[in-house]
Amino acid sequence: MGRFDGRVAVITGAARGIGLGVATRFAEEGASVAVIDLDESAAAEAAGKLPVSGGAKHVGVGADVASSADVDAAIARVVDELGGLHILMNNAGITRDNLLFKMTEDDWDLVLGVHLKGAFLMSKAAQAHFVAQKYGKIVNVSSTSALGNRGQANYSAAKMGIQGFTRTLAIELGPFGVNVNAIAPGFIATEMTDATAARLNLDVDEFRRLSAEHNPVKRVGFPEDIAAAAAFLASDESSYITGQTLFVDGGATLG
Ligand code: NAP
Repeated sequence: MGRFDGRVAVITGAARGIGLGVATRFAEEGASVAVIDLDESAAAEAAGKLPVSGGAKHVGVGADVASSADVDAAIARVVDELGGLHILMNNAGITRDNLLFKMTEDDWDLVLGVHLKGAFLMSKAAQAHFVAQKYGKIVNVSSTSALGNRGQANYSAAKMGIQGFTRTLAIELGPFGVNVNAIAPGFIATEMTDATAARLNLDVDEFRRLSAEHNPVKRVGFPEDIAAAAAFLASDESSYITGQTLFVDGGATLG
């Protein structure tokens, strides 16, 4: 018996990185998983490699979470092909880092569009199903950068916005059997942080080693660390927890 037997989970930005780690964990625990990502072939390839248990099946769907037409079509397709919808993880994300005086309007709009508008559109489309069946789990992805990070005014604003969005949806949807929580990851080793290393002209391993020094557990995080927290928050074991942001950062923000 897996915790997600008979459940359908949608995870955005799941063709790689944290999203793929979460998709793998949910599939291992019995879920049917919809991998949503910008590139349909990358999404389909990732979905094709997920473990299958029981009667579960997986699908890869190409969609831009910042487009309402894409989002509505994606949710309709998932419900049609996988037979329902129970869990949504708003994970898709991008960075366009720069100091404020060099940050362009495009850098601002793109980052706010994917993280905040994307989470809004996906949650709005999913809640129609969740409220009708009086059951649903939403897990949003914030970041330790929400607390402030040099060169990330756009990303930090979006990720703190996610925390307010999470609390508000928890209030609105709780009476309908829907739990809404967020995870704020610290440094997680993915292509996103590898790209940051490249921007800073640092070797990936050196960047990870330096980042590990900044938290009490003295290691970087991996997608599996976020997947473990996401599986708890998407499961019925956390049904009395809602509106919370769980920091999964090795204690980096403890001061
Ligand atoms: P990643 O490796 O860059 O993966 C992000 C995925 O999201 C990519 O597959 C990307 O597709 C997809 N994506 C981007 N824009 C999209 C859109 N508009 N619609 C659908 N999919 C889209 O990043 P990650 O490190 O796994 O990060 C996942 C989430 O965790 C993000 O929200 C990120 O902000 C957050 N986070 C990460 C860290 C960290 O240290 N890694 C820390 C805190 C928070 P393309 O490849 O086609 O662009």
